[in-house]
Amino acid sequence: MSEPRVNEQARLAALYEVSSQLGASLDLTQVLNQVMDAIIQLTGAERGYLVLFDEDSGDLQPAAARNVDQETIAGKSMKISRTVIERAVATGEGILTSNAQEDERFAGQQSVVGYQLRSIMCAPLRARSSTVGAVYVDNRLFTSVFDNADLELLVTFANQAAIAIDNARLFTRTDQNLARRVEELSLFQRIDQQLNKSLDLNRVLNLALHWAISLTGADSGSIGLLEINKESEEQGLRLLVHSQGEEAGAAALIPFDHPVLHEVWENGRSSFLQNINPGQAIDNTPAAAQLAVPIKHDGVMTGLITLESQFSNAIDNEDIAFVERLADRAAVAIKNARLYEEIQAISQAKSEFISVVTHELRLPMTAIKGYNDLIIGGMTGPLTDQQKQFLQVIRRNIDRMQDLISDLSDINRIESGRMKFENRAFAILDTIHEVRDSLQEVIAAKNQSLKIDYSPGIGAVYADPKRIGQVLTNLVSNAYKYTPPEGVITIQASEDDDFARVTVSDNGIGISEENQVRLFTQFFRAEDQAVREQNGWGLGLSIVKKIVEAQGGEIDFVSELNRGSTFTFTIPLANIKEETAVSA
Ligand code: ADP
Repeated sequence: MSEPRVNEQARLAALYEVSSQLGASLDLTQVLNQVMDAIIQLTGAERGYLVLFDEDSGDLQPAAARNVDQETIAGKSMKISRTVIERAVATGEGILTSNAQEDERFAGQQSVVGYQLRSIMCAPLRARSSTVGAVYVDNRLFTSVFDNADLELLVTFANQAAIAIDNARLFTRTDQNLARRVEELSLFQRIDQQLNKSLDLNRVLNLALHWAISLTGADSGSIGLLEINKESEEQGLRLLVHSQGEEAGAAALIPFDHPVLHEVWENGRSSFLQNINPGQAIDNTPAAAQLAVPIKHDGVMTGLITLESQFSNAIDNEDIAFVERLADRAAVAIKNARLYEEIQAISQAKSEFISVVTHELRLPMTAIKGYNDLIIGGMTGPLTDQQKQFLQVIRRNIDRMQDLISDLSDINRIESGRMKFENRAFAILDTIHEVRDSLQEVIAAKNQSLKIDYSPGIGAVYADPKRIGQVLTNLVSNAYKYTPPEGVITIQASEDDDFARVTVSDNGIGISEENQVRLFTQFFRAEDQAVREQNGWGLGLSIVKKIVEAQGGEIDFVSELNRGSTFTFTIPLANIKEETAVSA
């Protein structure tokens, strides 16, 4: 037995090293060049080529071409024998010829003669039980450069290389798919953001159509919603937005027997038609291609997106899938916008109702109160004690009802944005003193004391003095109502950065933790006996909060049951407001 050749050992070592490098990269071009350089180095070839089946066309295409100096060979100077490659691919076996010029299998071939090819080796690349291409090396100058050991090496190497190539290809494909998916996701994220930001139906429809046209490259399009004609009760499609700017809404109702609408409605899925005549087109305009995608909510069709193009191949399957996904999103946004429209209409109706009722109640209440006061005052003759007592009850109840009317109309005005604020700069201390003066009597009658405590030199605030007076009156009245006799109520005022801070505190009944979370909600009143004894509708604090916030301030409170409560609100200082007004 002969000793293994030294160069054979060296080649085995090189084979091992290059094979181990193969798996290191998933970059296809890099892997292919690595493979070719390694093969040239291992076999002593002059040049090496790697051809792969193109995944789309199925043709063999050069994927790498390298020379002995590890340079890439340009496409034009690729001089190879296709016959050799095709044979290797067809038989699935390695091919070796020591001199192609004299090899009867190839001698007659045009490329062999023309390019004067001599030593050639070729091995198929096989991965996942199919042939993906071939590796081809040659040496044009010399004959008998390669022997069977070289071929064996090339075949072994080709087997390993094929796996690395396959992995890299798979990776590239996965990577591309992933990148496309990520791109699509971020696009839909943008679309969703825009669609969900708007509760205006017309804007939602315009946005959806804009995206549908710009991302499919269609020439024009429209969006329509299904509706029922109020008079004829016929259902049809009303085109609401048209990319060509036609008068939206003015269009007649498109009946269900219109070919496009009929098809989409019947099949419940998109229709794509080519070469459509005016009769088939949703807007009577002929087009080379028309896509109609239903807008469905909970599986029920509520509208239709149509796109037209003057090129029959302008809209492909990917575009159709995209518009379908867009339609799903538009459906949700349309539903929300419609719900919002309905809520707006209901809230408007409620607001009008309250406004009429409060207005109509005010007048008779004033009359009842007036006559009641006249009778109590003795204008109609002397009264028995019991009569007086009953009239006082009437009077208290009228007051209660007047409070309710006034609170309801305040809430109504704030909620509908109709509350007027006559803002100006004024001294908050003046308002505090006015409120103290107006409530002093009732507070004293309950043997409570009211203290005012303020830091000197508080700047003027910028707000509506009447509204701030209303806020303060409400808070002090609550302190008075929910504090037992002998209690102490304190109003404090100070400056805090750009705001004046006003605090009303009492040492009264306090508010339990459970009730604290419900404070400021309309009609909330604590179940306490001490609360229920007092007049009130549970609307004051919610009005106070809205008034404070509408003027750029905030309101907060701390309270402890049986210890007392402190309510604090802020209002912008006038100098700050003026500065911002100037710079704005
Ligand atoms: P009303 O006083 O008409 O009930 P408000 O909206 O002003 O309505 O107050 C709601 C509820 O909050 C009151 O019924 C009471 O339970 C509680 N509350 C408000 N202010 C105080 C306070 N200073 N001390 C204790 N409880 C209070």
